[in-house]
Amino acid sequence: MPHPARLAALQAIQQRQPLACEATPPLAKIWASDVFTLGRMKNALPKEAYKAVRKVIRDGGKLDLDVADVVAQAMKDWAVAQGAHYYAHVFYPLTNSTAEKHDGFISPQGDGDAIHEFSGKLLVQGEPDGSSFPNGGIRSTFEARGYTAWDITSPAYLMRTPNGVTLCIPTVFVSWTGEALDKKTPLLRSNAAMNRQAQRLLRILGNQEVAPVNSSCGAEQEYFLVDTQFATLRPDLLLAGRTLFGAPSPKGQQFDDHYFGAIPERVQVFMQDVEQQLYRLGIPAKTRHNEVAPGQFEIAPVHEAANVATDHQQLIMTVLKGTAKRHGFTCLLHEKPFAGINGSGKHVNWSVGNSTQGNLLDPGHTPHDNLQFLLFCAAVIRGVHRNGPLLRAVVATAGNDHRLGANEAPPAIISVYLGQQLEQVFQQIQRGEATGSASGGVMRLGVDTLPEFPKDAGDRNRTSPFAFTGNRFEFRAVGSGQSVAGPLVAMNTVLADSLEWISDRLEAEMASGQTLEQAAAAVLKQVMDLHGAAVFGGDGYSDAWHREATEQRGLENLRNTAEALPVLRRDDVRELFQRQAVISPVELESRYEVYGEQYVLAIEVEARVALSMVRTQISPAVDKQISSLARSLQQQHALGLQPDQRRLHQLSELQQQMEEHSLALEGELDQLHHGDTAASMHECAQVILPRLAQLREAVDGLEARVDDDRWPLPSYREMLFVR
Ligand code: ADP
Ligand code: MG
Repeated sequence: MPHPARLAALQAIQQRQPLACEATPPLAKIWASDVFTLGRMKNALPKEAYKAVRKVIRDGGKLDLDVADVVAQAMKDWAVAQGAHYYAHVFYPLTNSTAEKHDGFISPQGDGDAIHEFSGKLLVQGEPDGSSFPNGGIRSTFEARGYTAWDITSPAYLMRTPNGVTLCIPTVFVSWTGEALDKKTPLLRSNAAMNRQAQRLLRILGNQEVAPVNSSCGAEQEYFLVDTQFATLRPDLLLAGRTLFGAPSPKGQQFDDHYFGAIPERVQVFMQDVEQQLYRLGIPAKTRHNEVAPGQFEIAPVHEAANVATDHQQLIMTVLKGTAKRHGFTCLLHEKPFAGINGSGKHVNWSVGNSTQGNLLDPGHTPHDNLQFLLFCAAVIRGVHRNGPLLRAVVATAGNDHRLGANEAPPAIISVYLGQQLEQVFQQIQRGEATGSASGGVMRLGVDTLPEFPKDAGDRNRTSPFAFTGNRFEFRAVGSGQSVAGPLVAMNTVLADSLEWISDRLEAEMASGQTLEQAAAAVLKQVMDLHGAAVFGGDGYSDAWHREATEQRGLENLRNTAEALPVLRRDDVRELFQRQAVISPVELESRYEVYGEQYVLAIEVEARVALSMVRTQISPAVDKQISSLARSLQQQHALGLQPDQRRLHQLSELQQQMEEHSLALEGELDQLHHGDTAASMHECAQVILPRLAQLREAVDGLEARVDDDRWPLPSYREMLFVR
């Protein structure tokens, strides 16, 4: 018989029915019904205003305030007709979360009436109280003001909650001195940098017409569902997002089928509900189950422009969490909620392209495309090789450290996987076999050597952190709970920088009399000579690779956040972001501080939650168990029996270990903030986390030995059987 609290949870779960859910309406009816789409703008705006909006979206620049007034009016009319009374500037602070400042449309009039009002000025700029958002020292409190500014390239939408309907306007969030306090600003800048350099290279390649180049992103989101009845009994899940204790589940789970027969249906209904909401928000989601771990699922939208995809990704996380609640689930976005069970990641599929040349990472069919493709691909290879540590740093979080390099996710060493064929092509280029000599007007480079690539190479090498998958790269080291903005900023910037270098080299070669093809062959060879060490097609999980990568190829293995985040302070990284005008040195330093603090805070919370669980839940249960066992042994002794003392000994030994590690952890926590960010991070990685692991070992040993009716925490067996 389980502990009464667990028993009550089990019984409640058993009786739970799937939420009544209306049949899915036809897609055409709900698709983007809650989005102020371009189509809606076109209908609502005067022709000239609409044209101005389109132009700013396509080419950048500023919208005139009188046009903004017209747009604001139309937006408000549409939102109010849908039941909205409030609007919110939505922004993305450095915390991986989404923040909103809500304001009413209401405007009291002199005559005592009130009307709905919304102006271009209110649409374009907002002023939330910025002081509660982390800024890493950019603002001192007396100048705590932060401004939000409308991002016209990401459509406004309606958020429906039981509290009503709110018009949500995606914005950037900057300090009064113009420094980025958010994740969107650098993303937009990185896209602009990439656009500048991609256009330049495309022109060098002889293209007359070159449309703006944009980056695209399709992110595959993994998550766990746990029944809320269980989650509420686990302070670690509620406060730290992951289980800090929990003995592994025994094998056979047949028994649980009995309890959880109704759950698959509840999950189905949950997924349907999520999909419908995402469709209304114009988010092209495809759901599917993920069989890797019990209780784990995945949702992947079709790729979109990186900026919009990033906003949509944040919405997906919000919708997953909120909807789960309504269905009696807790959605866990943590990278490693359960020790010993596969964790969750977020594969970020990324490509760059435009309307004139198409996807620039698509090998295409023609020689011309091939040359273009090879140069862009080479730029990625060079970028990853030069900036592997940066790519590691942008996925460095306390949660993700449990995944990377743990034989279930890519290693912390950043290499590129090209697939066999493409790798061979680049090897030939390096050997000088694929020459750039133009004979008979035919561009030879690529024609002979570049076969058509199979489009989906996605599953062929799961062990690579950065893989070419047919017409895009897939960055697989990103954590499930992270914003995708940081990784996209890094990829765009790194690409921009390498494209610039390639263009410089091409121009220099051509100035010395080489043809374009000869110049390209020379530059491609040079890229492989200098940066081919990043290309790796083997087993990224193997020890042999770890040795080869670090000892022979000079790639860095930054094993945890404490080692990876300081990369943001390196000269080459600072110069890279400054050169490409993406992140200023001040902004970069503030990011290092904020992310470092977050890492320390996450681990500090884990340690404090663990201690409180030990003190208030686990110790009392163990004490009772030991007293009762001791009593029973005494009674047996009194009856003249020779009782076996071993169980008592085991229990008290584990109890003692638990006590010792708890006391030590308390002392170590006291030391935590006695240095700077780097010292605190180091303390977390080297002292607190190992201590937590030792504490856990003792507690998990106890869980396996304490009577089931005394153990207050739902077990792995119970929580994970949501299939
Ligand atoms: P897999 O599970 O094999 O990685 P999926 O097709 O399920 O592949 O998911 C791949 C993701 O990559 C989807 O979000 C898809 O829209 C996205 N994607 C496809 N093509 C591109 C591209 N050219 N650029 C960016 N993302 C892409
Ligand atoms: Mg994938």
